[in-house]
Amino acid sequence: MAALRPTVLVVEDEPEIRRFLRLALAEEGCRVVEAGAGRRAMIDAGTHKADLAIVDLGLPDLDGMEVIRAIRAWSPMPILVLSARAQERSKIEALDAGADDYVTKPFAIGELLASVRVALRRRARPVTGDSVLIFEAARVDLQRREASREGRALHLTPLEFRLLACLAARSGQIATHRQLLVEVWGPAHERDTHYLRIYMKQLRGKLERDPLRPRHLLTEIGVGYRLVLDD
Ligand code: CA
Repeated sequence: MAALRPTVLVVEDEPEIRRFLRLALAEEGCRVVEAGAGRRAMIDAGTHKADLAIVDLGLPDLDGMEVIRAIRAWSPMPILVLSARAQERSKIEALDAGADDYVTKPFAIGELLASVRVALRRRARPVTGDSVLIFEAARVDLQRREASREGRALHLTPLEFRLLACLAARSGQIATHRQLLVEVWGPAHERDTHYLRIYMKQLRGKLERDPLRPRHLLTEIGVGYRLVLDD
């Protein structure tokens, strides 16, 4: 975590969960600002110069989705959703509105803190993400458009490079089907999820040690994909 204490805005109406998060985040070296309702949160996000927001979707005054859209309208700060809504539709909606990741309640604190670390790290990096991706069996240099597997040159197509670059830009976090399709194939293809199935299978075949049990190119069922690289 950054040397300067990052400020985390916790938007959550249940006092017990807020308290739990405050203690765990303080332990991580974060300064915590708490908001129990959506309108309060929109104000606090600006006045406290938050580095990260954790947003519950079920809030007493308005829907957490509105908070996400309001923050995203003026700030690139990472937003993690912490919600009891487990349906794929809610996840997709929140991620497409600009949230960076989604943790479902009940949650394990270890999982949440891991997402917090990824989000804060990504914030410190340029928006393009890492340009050299290290997999167990392979290595990809996005900038030079070069790939190798166990020391031998590996051919990736321009579309495969582009798809990897989009995943890498959100490394550790979920990229939705729609985000990937729009960025790689264009807005006319935002529903063509079969493209993703085909290309992800190809990428796994080239980059994963065991393509049937991928460790890096992970499926978020019904929602999208997540690129996970070792630190
Ligand atoms: Ca709630």
